[in-house]
Amino acid sequence: MRYLVLTDIHANLEALEVCLDHARAQGYDRTLVLGDLVGYGPDPNEVIERIKALSPVAMIRGNHDKVACGLEQPEGFNAVARRAAIWTFEILTSAHRNWLAALPKGPAIVDEVIQICHGSPFDEDAYIFDELDAVRALKMSQRPLCLFGHTHYPVTFALTEGRVDTIGGPNSIDGPLMLMDHAKYLLNPGAVGQPRDGDPRAAYAIADTTAKRVDLFRLEYPFEATQAKLVKAGLPDVLAQRLAVGR
Ligand code: ZN
Repeated sequence: MRYLVLTDIHANLEALEVCLDHARAQGYDRTLVLGDLVGYGPDPNEVIERIKALSPVAMIRGNHDKVACGLEQPEGFNAVARRAAIWTFEILTSAHRNWLAALPKGPAIVDEVIQICHGSPFDEDAYIFDELDAVRALKMSQRPLCLFGHTHYPVTFALTEGRVDTIGGPNSIDGPLMLMDHAKYLLNPGAVGQPRDGDPRAAYAIADTTAKRVDLFRLEYPFEATQAKLVKAGLPDVLAQRLAVGR
């Protein structure tokens, strides 16, 4: 089974479309969505429509999805994220707000090999940044491959014989991750719609459970179009600026 893995799309339609076109050429069977479909970006309704059309086999909510649909208040958000969340809440159709509110909380088991979560397998809102964070998550994960998002930072942690190692990181993806037997992995493919690792390209992955490999992709997309929409919507300038630098 080949899974298209999408996370942190953040209402960036241009980035999503480039990833979907590329993934179609690669070939995949099913789609997994790890949350934060909306928030920050200018096209929340359009992104939801695109994702619905993919009929994901597993999909969970992110922290921005909860706030954008009114399930939670943007209390922990900084001023820019809060502005964008309120704007998103107002522009979403009521049908899309209800659809977001019905998204399940992670983690979710996909099959014998894969589990998905937004932040971590023990707390949907927790961030996994380093090996210390990863240790607990790897022990808690119920499948050999746990896919996560939330940090907008592509990284893989591997647990082999009680030892945790970091694989990859920014700009160091050369070749697929091959899944070894008796190891556990925690993998963030990076954000589709708002990368923060200093590389502005959209990120996504294809996980192949038969071939036991995960391919990570970075793709250029016309972020100038997304920036123009953000400016037109009157959203904070920093949201447009960060797309050019991937921060
Ligand atoms: Zn996010």
